Amino acid sequence: MKSYRKELWFHTQKRREFINITPQVEKCLEESGITEGLCLVNAMHITASVFINDDESGLHQDFEVWLEKLAPEKPYSQYQHNGFEDNADAHLKRTLMGREVVIAVTEAKLDLGPWEQIFYGEFDGKRKKRVLVKIIGE
Ligand code: ZN
Repeated sequence: MKSYRKELWFHTQKRREFINITPQVEKCLEESGITEGLCLVNAMHITASVFINDDESGLHQDFEVWLEKLAPEKPYSQYQHNGFEDNADAHLKRTLMGREVVIAVTEAKLDLGPWEQIFYGEFDGKRKKRVLVKIIGE
């Protein structure tokens, strides 16, 4: 069995951002030389997500509004966690959007559905953060 590991780094300009990382994950798969197996992609930080959905800007605005309803950023004082930090909302948003995705690898391609794209979801940005890509198979 072959095994491949890579860290992708991100440094967003805004506190919250969605980045389509599908091309970068495809590049990892190409580098790995694996043609049949599984590809895990996970955020390595507790205030960021990796998720799969549509690359459609209206939907991304809908996610932002929905997440702000469920876990509003402000007022910071509403959260117990916000003593030294002001990112309690980011921890909650990360939990809602998920930590990782697993994608089947078939005939050297990511076996995604027709509109499925892989996203890095940043909820407490403006600093360097990582995503892990682990691919196993043959
Ligand atoms: Zn925190």
